[in-house]
Amino acid sequence: MPTLKEQGKDKVIRRLLDAAAQIIKKSGAKVKAIGAGCPGPLDSKKGIVLSPPNLPDWRGVRLKKIIERRFRVPAVVENDANCAGLGEAMNGAGRGSSSMVLLTLGTGIGSAIVLDGKLWTGKGGFASEFGHTSIDINGPKCRCGNRGCLEMYASATAVVRRRKAAGKMTAEDIYKAAEKGDRISRRIVDETAVYIGAAIANIINALDPETIVLAGGMAKAGKVFFGKVKKAAKERALREAYKGVRIVTAELGEDAGIIGAAWRAKKL
Ligand SMILES: [Zn+2]
Repeated sequence: MPTLKEQGKDKVIRRLLDAAAQIIKKSGAKVKAIGAGCPGPLDSKKGIVLSPPNLPDWRGVRLKKIIERRFRVPAVVENDANCAGLGEAMNGAGRGSSSMVLLTLGTGIGSAIVLDGKLWTGKGGFASEFGHTSIDINGPKCRCGNRGCLEMYASATAVVRRRKAAGKMTAEDIYKAAEKGDRISRRIVDETAVYIGAAIANIINALDPETIVLAGGMAKAGKVFFGKVKKAAKERALREAYKGVRIVTAELGEDAGIIGAAWRAKKL
């Protein structure tokens, strides 16, 4: 169901809880725990939403407590990108890999690290923000405080912004125009492939993972684009570390986060 965030957090939360109650009733299953995915940053241990840039009125929402009070079972709140990563690792494109990194190329860039079926979330739960690794130290200032973050060049939003005079073009339109031979669009798409490839090379050199999964609208940009991303990654990563890595597109689409949130609850 659509979030309808403009209605304010109280209404959104009530609709989410009611929807969960309906699903529980319909399934007839005995629910042992509930997992929820939510845009970060958040305190997953306490289940508190901190300051998601796209949900400004959600600051300080004690989502875990709200869910537990309503359903009287343990609940866990996890970063939505982490949930998507866990979903892909358990049931999607990362199945069978003991180490997997997810990159979701959407409005922003989300990412997750899954090691042996468990999320690596770091000491404070803020790990795997590859969208905010700097690829240009002199680049423009990012909303996170850093400069020249990957997200500012390679997210769908950034692709549209970089296509000056894009008018009403979406990132998808720009990819299509590039395929049809529009020179400006093609240059932007080629540059984007290099940005993403460079980011993947950084990930490979840092973690040497078995599998890297690309998700989100831009992962559907086509085989040619995907090939260019892989080429750029291969050129930049350490040769030994690149050997044997699987770079694949996601399999679960919008369901990845839901499936991952359920896994997160199962592992409570
Ligand atoms: Zn940033």
